Amino acid sequence: MKRSGPIRRSGGLNPMSAKRRAELNIRSRVRKEVLERDQYKCVAMHLVPDIDCWGPLDVDEIVGRGRGGDWLDPDNCQVLCRAHHDWKHLHPAEATDLGLTKNRMWDP
Ligand SMILES: [Zn+2]
Repeated sequence: MKRSGPIRRSGGLNPMSAKRRAELNIRSRVRKEVLERDQYKCVAMHLVPDIDCWGPLDVDEIVGRGRGGDWLDPDNCQVLCRAHHDWKHLHPAEATDLGLTKNRMWDP
């Protein structure tokens, strides 16, 4: 097929693919759903009482994306404040015991 006129770009120097755009759309819906489900509260607040909640709320994946976790599945997401989010990454073994992180999708 012959193209006429300039190649259409989706804007910017780094145009996003349609797939990426669709994912980001779903992600923003998932974020809202998870925030509402967890009532805009950090789920680690009572699990890790030694750490005071601080900072903006993040929607965090329980099974990380690098481990095959689905960032677009609300069941794989939880609300964490910045302090507990940092704590989780610094204490992976304890976070796993508390269920704040899982290594694989099929872990209980
Ligand atoms: Zn917190």
